[in-house]
Amino acid sequence: MRISEKRMLKLTNELKKVHIKYKTNIQLSSLTTIHVGGLASIILEPENSSQLYEAVYIAEKFGFQFKVIGNGSNLIISDTNIDFLPIINKKGQWEVIDTSPRSRNIKSKFSQNDSNSDKIFENGKDVIVQADSGIRLTQFATELYQKKIFGLEHFAGIHSTIGGAVYKNIHGMNKLFSDIIESVTILDNSKIRIISREKLNFDYDYSFLQDTNQILLSANLRLKQGDITELKKLRAKWIQQKTPQPQKSAGCIFQNLTKEQQDNLNLPTQSIGYFIDQKLNLKGKIIGGAKISENHAEFIENIGDATSNDIHSLIKFIQNESEQKYKIKLALKVELAGKFK
Ligand SMILES: Cc1cc2nc3c(=O)[nH]c(=O)nc-3n(C[C@H](O)[C@H](O)[C@H](O)COP(=O)(O)OP(=O)(O)OC[C@H]3O[C@@H](n4cnc5c(N)ncnc54)[C@H](O)[C@@H]3O)c2cc1C
Repeated sequence: MRISEKRMLKLTNELKKVHIKYKTNIQLSSLTTIHVGGLASIILEPENSSQLYEAVYIAEKFGFQFKVIGNGSNLIISDTNIDFLPIINKKGQWEVIDTSPRSRNIKSKFSQNDSNSDKIFENGKDVIVQADSGIRLTQFATELYQKKIFGLEHFAGIHSTIGGAVYKNIHGMNKLFSDIIESVTILDNSKIRIISREKLNFDYDYSFLQDTNQILLSANLRLKQGDITELKKLRAKWIQQKTPQPQKSAGCIFQNLTKEQQDNLNLPTQSIGYFIDQKLNLKGKIIGGAKISENHAEFIENIGDATSNDIHSLIKFIQNESEQKYKIKLALKVELAGKFK
């Protein structure tokens, strides 16, 4: 996004007034896990949810189209034509706000029981923790342990902020992130609203944030406080299991097949990785610096200096193969931001 010198000066003066940090001329590739993304003339770096509110307010006041970016772990940003003002929301604070909440079961129909691990989670008492949307889950889990609080273990090893986790309704092991949400505070057309979980529209891979321009400021999470010894071990084990996944990636590229598609193809699983590997035979396929992972065919990894177009071309290639061979349209799970050919 091109910003005239005069406008940039006005913008930076405004940011300084409210102590919001910013950086100029930043390659967004340094802020995405797949390491692609072009030059942004300025990025804003709020440090908590109130600064995020201010940052959005200023962006809107200047008439900029903006995008809140968390840890950049689900984004493929174009190498050129960045047409938005990036608000990098990777910091925040958290606090315990209720130590004796009314008990309730908020497990969703998508979550499955896992008797091996579920028992460990039965110990401890419920607590409600309010967390800014910029907090990163890995750091958050470690900080929670210092207060003997647990409940994020299922999402161990996912490089997400709270904002990204709610936006995508991430899933880890047998749980969805929405399972632990009590309520959220959002910014909706310059108004702050608190919405309880019952009124939020969550689904597998889906949250209401995907269809609105609302920004998540913070979330109240129902976690547990108690003995963390076994939980720590479980978390370490689950992180270990995720480590072989290609880290220089944007996670799983496509959504899994539907039950109907699985049945039609007579496959043992809905896994998109299985489909790409066993039916399309595309494991290891390379375009430029982008490769379909040998270990996890649902991931595209940056094996060197991939451009955003290398990745985009590989995505289109997989989609074409799927449509031509099986008439299946593969829906993206990652998000493309900026301009692609
Ligand atoms: C190696 C690897 C493994 C992964 N494993 C998993 C997994 O097991 N399960 C899983 O579900 N996902 C997984 N992912 C995908 C990814 O980590 C998640 O989708 C994650 O939630 C993205 O969070 P983020 O903070 O990086 O969001 P970003 O990628 O920065 O943003 C994603 C979207 O969220 C929006 N957003 C972010 N913050 C806010 C906010 N405060 N308000 C409104 N919108 C916001 C952004 O605008 C963007 O549209 C994996 C990714 C990688 C690289």
